[in-house]
Amino acid sequence: MKLRKVTKIIVVLVLLIVSVYLSIEPKYTSSSGVTPPFITHFPTFIAHKSIISNKSHPNTIDAIEEVLMSEVPGVEVDVRLSKDGVPIIYHANTLEEETNGVGKPEDYVWADLEKLIYKNTPNSRIMSLEKLLTVVGTKKFIFLDVKTYKIFNQQLATALTALINKYQLQETIFVESFNPFLLLSIRLTAPDILIMYDFTTSSEAPSKDFESQFKKIPWLLKQPFIQKQIRRLIRPDLLSPRFNVNEDVLKSLIDNGYPVVAYNIDTPQAAQGLLDIGVKGIQTNKSMSIIQRVKTSQATYDAGGSGVIPSKIIHVQTIEDIQEAVQLARATQKKITIAGLRHSMGGHTLLDNSIQLDTLSFKKVIYNPETMTVNIEPGATWKRVQKVLDRYGRSVKVMQGDNIFTVGGTVSINIHGWQTNSAPLASTVISLKVMTADGKIHHLHRDDNSPLFKAVLGGYGLFGLILNVELETAPNTALKFKAEFIDPNDFGHAFEKYVATNPKAELAYGRLCVDKHHLFKYAGLYWYEQTHADKLEDLKFKPPITDNRGILRASETYNWGKKLRWSAEKTYVQRMLHANAISRNNAMNTDIQILWPIYRTHKDVLQEFLIPKQNLNAFVASLKKHILDFKVNILHVTIREVKQDNISLLPYAKTDMFGLLCAFSQGRTPDEEKQMRQFTQKVIDDLLQLEGVFFLPYRLHYTKEQLLTAYPEIKEWVRLKKTFDPDNMFDSEFFQYVSKEED
Ligand SMILES: Cc1cc2nc3c(=O)[nH]c(=O)nc-3n(C[C@H](O)[C@H](O)[C@H](O)COP(=O)(O)OP(=O)(O)OC[C@H]3O[C@@H](n4cnc5c(N)ncnc54)[C@H](O)[C@@H]3O)c2cc1C
Repeated sequence: MKLRKVTKIIVVLVLLIVSVYLSIEPKYTSSSGVTPPFITHFPTFIAHKSIISNKSHPNTIDAIEEVLMSEVPGVEVDVRLSKDGVPIIYHANTLEEETNGVGKPEDYVWADLEKLIYKNTPNSRIMSLEKLLTVVGTKKFIFLDVKTYKIFNQQLATALTALINKYQLQETIFVESFNPFLLLSIRLTAPDILIMYDFTTSSEAPSKDFESQFKKIPWLLKQPFIQKQIRRLIRPDLLSPRFNVNEDVLKSLIDNGYPVVAYNIDTPQAAQGLLDIGVKGIQTNKSMSIIQRVKTSQATYDAGGSGVIPSKIIHVQTIEDIQEAVQLARATQKKITIAGLRHSMGGHTLLDNSIQLDTLSFKKVIYNPETMTVNIEPGATWKRVQKVLDRYGRSVKVMQGDNIFTVGGTVSINIHGWQTNSAPLASTVISLKVMTADGKIHHLHRDDNSPLFKAVLGGYGLFGLILNVELETAPNTALKFKAEFIDPNDFGHAFEKYVATNPKAELAYGRLCVDKHHLFKYAGLYWYEQTHADKLEDLKFKPPITDNRGILRASETYNWGKKLRWSAEKTYVQRMLHANAISRNNAMNTDIQILWPIYRTHKDVLQEFLIPKQNLNAFVASLKKHILDFKVNILHVTIREVKQDNISLLPYAKTDMFGLLCAFSQGRTPDEEKQMRQFTQKVIDDLLQLEGVFFLPYRLHYTKEQLLTAYPEIKEWVRLKKTFDPDNMFDSEFFQYVSKEED
């Protein structure tokens, strides 16, 4: 009897906890396996059905061409499947509503559909999705509004995924739908495709025009509780509330971090109101008039959280665009800042009132099988380069630990990675094409001993704009994961034994435990070594990784989270030790999505300290002391080897070193900024005593004196910049800081 009562109480408690959990709006944590590029580059205005004027019929090639010629950054079209499985662009439910055909488009094969003509616009025909993708490419963001009557439509999901993959448009296409099953199916089979969940909280259609569309949405999908669970389950990249969405719901979604796109907003006042409360994008039939009359946030940020208001942001796609921008800067006496993905953290891509050149759409990648080299335009990310190389059995030789960065930004920082026995990236650069401030294009080869070549590598965009990079590549080998848990004091020896003297080791890094009761008391050394495999898997995106993110973020707030993280790491390592061999490309296919902060009150900041190998233990002891003294919140420390750099003019790897990449969580208050600055300066004081160097792409917390000690070459470097760019046309907050005379 007693037992039954206890059981009842437990059941009631569990039900209570579950219902409270289900009633809470989940925080925005997209489950895509990638960091969406829109984090830095969002299409604020989206032409609904590709309408920007009444000259062309919506959803036709003519309408698309109008959008391409306009400033509107995004285009929305309706996509459905023909009877023979071809994705087509068409809005209405029946053909007679818009064309000279009759019946449902789904009942006809593509060969019949493509002959149909739109009413009143005899030159316009139904377009296939493939045609749209070839015409638009990466020039605009594309929103594919999926139309389907079926609850499960795997054929449509597969067809869309195949086309997006074929044209490599994962970074600029969003698949949107009311149908959670379709979105889930895409998310599970292709986690690198971005999805937008459409939903409504209205109980009735806003007007007659929308009645048929509104009626088709099942009752269940109109229930806010169910929608919340769909957001929890699918974790979409974007949300699009439709029709008359309750303003409180909208605000709650924005407060929980969701990027929201509002639907069919056709007056500047309404658009302005929505943007003012934090809506990210406006889908509209009147984009031209809205663009002109609505004030958008002009600020642009980098990963360190600094923001500036540029005079203009130009999304360059060609060399001609860049030439025009340089001319414009000269004519208007503006400075130019250059931006890739803006993951540098010290205003390297920012300056108030500058013209910011955003290179993300300038991103062709061409592999040459004869020379086994790859030519890359600067806006291409490593992810994009890997996709191309993977097809040829090749791999990137040196890159960062993660693959989301642009190649232009990476070369300009002269990064280093976890590839063994490797100097920084400069050692793999064969040639560069660079435009200097006078508009001249220089073809620079590593054999020519040109000062400009050496200056541009690690030149932070100050010597000229990189237009093309030619890189060496490496074979895409089969690799097996290995690991040892060690005493951090033995790290140097262990590295020598398992990695440095191991000819099979290709990738390696170490990790220190950051639990505050065991700070730096344990270390893991992980490496991949060559093995044999009959067949290697193609480059594939990892499944959703939000659970890892949950653990990382728990470690931000609680020490039990840090403990949990270390034990999760050990469990993960055990699993990896028993896993099959993987390709080098797959081992290097890691995104930083897991690192995104959940709470907007805090940000992650990085610092990297490089130390000659023999001084590692002394530096780790000093770092530990300062972390405890200043009570800064350390999230992780990764240790990698970097060989001496004999190429760039401003080298950080002055000898063979260990680099300690440290991530901290910091509140966004002036006090915490000051505390982090003071902490960093103390660490750097000890670092310099131990002949170490700090890396330059992070926060500008070092003093001018520390800069000159770590980088005595910087005076010469600044002088050389003046010879190539006497007016400092290429500028940034970083340059203003490092070049100013007084501290
Ligand atoms: C989570 C995280 C992990 C990191 N891991 C590593 C690591 O493992 N190893 C490492 O070495 N670094 C690492 N970094 C630093 C990272 O490599 C740099 O921040 C890198 O620049 C980011 O690339 P980006 O596309 O964001 O470049 P941006 O930040 O956009 O640009 C970087 C610099 O390059 C310049 N630039 C950009 N494009 C061009 C161009 N076409 N021509 C000339 N100049 C240009 C910019 O003006 C700027 O000075 C990491 C950073 C983060 C945030």
